[in-house]
Amino acid sequence: MEHTRVAIIGSGPAGYTAAIYTGRAQLEPTVFAGEQSGGQLMWTTDIENFPGFPKGIAGPQLMMDMRAQAEKFGAKMVDKFVTSVDVTSKPFTISTADSSFTADSIIIATGAESIMTGVPGEKEFLGRGVSTCAVCDAAFYREKTTFVIGGGDSAMEDTLALTKFAKSVTVLHRRDTFKASKIMQERVLSHEKVTVLWNSVLKEVKGEGVVKEAVVETNGEEKTLPADGIFVAIGHKPMTQIFKDKIILDDHGYVITGMESEKFPTMTSVEGIFAAGDNVDHRYKQAITAAGIGCSAALDAERWLESQQES
Ligand code: NDP
Repeated sequence: MEHTRVAIIGSGPAGYTAAIYTGRAQLEPTVFAGEQSGGQLMWTTDIENFPGFPKGIAGPQLMMDMRAQAEKFGAKMVDKFVTSVDVTSKPFTISTADSSFTADSIIIATGAESIMTGVPGEKEFLGRGVSTCAVCDAAFYREKTTFVIGGGDSAMEDTLALTKFAKSVTVLHRRDTFKASKIMQERVLSHEKVTVLWNSVLKEVKGEGVVKEAVVETNGEEKTLPADGIFVAIGHKPMTQIFKDKIILDDHGYVITGMESEKFPTMTSVEGIFAAGDNVDHRYKQAITAAGIGCSAALDAERWLESQQES
């Protein structure tokens, strides 16, 4: 069975940053990148808020560059999904559909996925009018007609981000009250650019190349409304299923870190297993914050491996 000192599971900004750092520490990490490597940024077009790119950069390009940078420092890429992990004995065992590896340490960087409504057209227009991140994309909707789906804090935050640019923001919520915090609700409800359609659901996204219309059902009545941008903000799901009952996760499936040792803030409940990126972060969910935690996890893993050799 092939052995690695550091196994990094995931290939978004957290995973690749961890790979760059552990690679430069000469730990020869193995990155389990999945069958479609690159994470959520592979679904975005221009990224204008990643520092260092004043002209912006395409999401897939940024991820390919991060991958190449990790490979330059000796990271080995395995473009396969991890199907199971055994964390009960050391070294840990990581299995894909057709092979198994042992690892002295693991960095979990599997990310999170946005929950989608699943209506026709939503997937087709993702990155071309349908977005899951207003903080990232609001500026592309200057003077545009936009919609936000959801009634939680994310939907409120997306709505407020859009009001800075868009001509109008219509919030579609399936109930007649929001579940978001009162202060966020008040900001949204008092904003002159915002209209709320209560008891409303998105039925379909229509367009030609880019989004043109939203089919909306309100109290059972269907309407087709002009739309340039549709922001889906109905929650996120961390991709941590393979670690369920193996390391401690919170009620929503996010990995809990920092409880094992003050020396290693990114360590999970299992010594030698670290976590970084959107699977630990339900608050910020930005490429740059994921990359930052990926760096921390790499440094923690390196120091923990050194401490094992000393003891
Ligand atoms: P939430 O789970 O809190 O809210 C999801 C919203 O989407 C709910 O209103 C829900 O409706 C609606 N929804 C769910 N599924 C569907 C569907 N299929 N179709 C239509 N609507 C749907 O998720 P958030 O991402 O908003 O927040 C997650 C956590 O992060 C929360 O704890 C939140 O407080 C926190 N957060 C904090 C922020 C801050 O403090 N600045 C910013 C963003 C998030 P229903 O109400 O009917 O359940």
